[in-house]
Amino acid sequence: MNAEQVKQSIRNIPDFPVKGIQFKDLTTALREPDCLQWMRAEITKQYQSKGITKVLGVESRGFILAPSVAMDLGAGFVPIRKPGKLPAEVLEQTYQKEYGVDRIQIHKDALTAEDVVLLHDDLLATGGTMAAAIELVRRFGVKKIYVNFVVELDGLEGRKLLSDVEVSSLIHFPDK
Ligand code: AMP
Repeated sequence: MNAEQVKQSIRNIPDFPVKGIQFKDLTTALREPDCLQWMRAEITKQYQSKGITKVLGVESRGFILAPSVAMDLGAGFVPIRKPGKLPAEVLEQTYQKEYGVDRIQIHKDALTAEDVVLLHDDLLATGGTMAAAIELVRRFGVKKIYVNFVVELDGLEGRKLLSDVEVSSLIHFPDK
């Protein structure tokens, strides 16, 4: 299994959820055992020597791989969730999405200044979601922040919003 084979197994859905969006449907890759295993192993391989103490998944598709990677790395898992889902005190960030405005939250006691964090989401589009997640994490004064995606849409240049962090994606599409 390699990146090109996994890329081929990702399904493109035109005009979902709104007209003009080329939605990258990862479920067609995730349902294949070899593709699923490859994604998990590739992420783990990249970060195993980084001293990661917490892997953060962004709701909801970031929750698919983040806990497996956390277990591989001997790290904890922390969810970044949509408003109203986390039961204890939260920090919140508002952001612009490729399709609409949204907010994300994290528990106030989820991280400490001693943590080395890996932030994970399934896909980098405009970068708004991950930029907001990085802002949330910065408030804890953590030692270092790494950012990982399964898929990056290069034409949208979302990476430009994610300054001062190391960003890595397993698979690239040229989409704008
Ligand atoms: P953005 O904040 O624009 O980088 O959007 C990233 C989030 O929206 C990710 O959590 C993705 O799951 C979702 N998303 C945005 N655009 C797409 C797309 N074209 N295909 C699949 N998911 C997308």
